[in-house]
Amino acid sequence: MNAQDAWRVAYSQLEIQLDRATFETWLKGATFLDHTDGVFTIGVKNNYARDMLKSRLYRNVRRVLMDVVNAPVEIDFVVHQPTRADLGVSSPQDMPLFRFLEEQQQPRSPYEDLSPESLRALHEVIQRPSMHDIPDSGLIAHYTFDRFVVANSNRYAYNAARAVVDAPGRNYNPCLIYSSTGLGKTHLLNAIGHAYRAKGLRTTFVTSESFVNDMMEALRQKTMAMFRDKYRSSDVLLIDDIHFISGKESTQEEFFHTFNTLHRFGKQIVMTSDRHPREFSLLEDRLRSRFEGGLLVDITPLEYETRIAILRMWAEEQGVKVSMPVMEVIAQGVHQDGVRELEGAFMKLVMQTRTLHRPLTVTEAQTLLLRFDAPRAYGAQVDARDILQAVTRYFNLRNGELTGKARTARVNHARQVAMYLCRENTELSLPQIGDLFGGRSHTTVLHGCNKMSESLADDPMLQQQLKDLKRALFGD
Ligand code: ADP
Ligand code: MG
Repeated sequence: MNAQDAWRVAYSQLEIQLDRATFETWLKGATFLDHTDGVFTIGVKNNYARDMLKSRLYRNVRRVLMDVVNAPVEIDFVVHQPTRADLGVSSPQDMPLFRFLEEQQQPRSPYEDLSPESLRALHEVIQRPSMHDIPDSGLIAHYTFDRFVVANSNRYAYNAARAVVDAPGRNYNPCLIYSSTGLGKTHLLNAIGHAYRAKGLRTTFVTSESFVNDMMEALRQKTMAMFRDKYRSSDVLLIDDIHFISGKESTQEEFFHTFNTLHRFGKQIVMTSDRHPREFSLLEDRLRSRFEGGLLVDITPLEYETRIAILRMWAEEQGVKVSMPVMEVIAQGVHQDGVRELEGAFMKLVMQTRTLHRPLTVTEAQTLLLRFDAPRAYGAQVDARDILQAVTRYFNLRNGELTGKARTARVNHARQVAMYLCRENTELSLPQIGDLFGGRSHTTVLHGCNKMSESLADDPMLQQQLKDLKRALFGD
């Protein structure tokens, strides 16, 4: 057996041995490129797959391959994605089958020495429509599992999403993912959709708003049967932002029936929401118990390290160099709990880096963020005195208590919240903040701020307090 065949055999064994999600995420499409002196070079789709295969999955893959060739082997994983540009083709329309095959006959084609099987595999990769090309899927192409950074704050939800993909319609039905905004619910829901589609399941992705609109239209036109058929004909129903039906009593009854019908037919339903179902105002207790009867998972605000990890991934994808201190500036600069602002800030940075043709310095990054962004995110225009006032009022303190000597638990907590808000939303330095709070030292301020950041992830009350205060301060 030649090396290429050996890889093919190993590949299909791995497909059976590894759990499906692992295989699909990391190994699927991995192609044989070369074999020299016992070293197999295998092309994989991206850096994450390469890193994963070189670390956690290495021993597994190597053992399987060794069993096949019956000799010691090493494997070198490299990123290799045949792009259309490789083939000198600019758009999919330019590339009917014959053109592709023609390319292969030309002596200087990079693929000239591939076997017919590899060519076929390659061809399949190129011809396979990307998710983006599939009409009406409603899915966002780049919201995939392999672009989702997993950390403590979202691991539970991530695992649930994977479990739901592995066993649709069975144990975890319905599945509801809830969190405040910008923490990756829509991203995960799309990733689930992509994974289902990759498995060949008919998947419908809708926002609850369009689901409800559709339903209202059907009610009005008396085409309810069609409406139900439409949703029933798919294997999987993904509904984003289901909290939209909160308080809309007339729609809930109908939603309940549709939901039940799908559920009875064993269709998997996955939903996202910005709150726990117990906080929905629902007409139907039945509906609430339906929600709660399934799998209920939340995402808590992303840790600082996670935000950094996301930035690193984006930087790598965009092929721009961003230094660690600059990443820190962005990760710290943005609003604590969401990734949306992070994305906006990052894109500005990318544009600027491309314009200058060199990585930005920390000062440039700071200036850029201040100059371009909303005061809310980068604190250009929030007056620390407004923060003190808002916090005093919110915690029912007396004027001057925050800056005074009192050290009761209640005042201490409020003071730390206020310091934290100053740190996050103004440009004041630590010593300046210390001064503002009755001449406290900068280490006291730092300690207070750190304590807040640390508690934030698993202290829902603190999350709520900050949310309320930010709303009071920034009006959103
Ligand atoms: P939500 O639906 O909870 O409001 P989104 O899914 O729209 O949040 O996420 C906001 C942005 O942050 C999106 O661009 C998304 O890709 C990104 N994002 C959120 N969490 C992660 C994560 N863990 N890894 C990578 N990107 C993330
Ligand atoms: Mg969303």
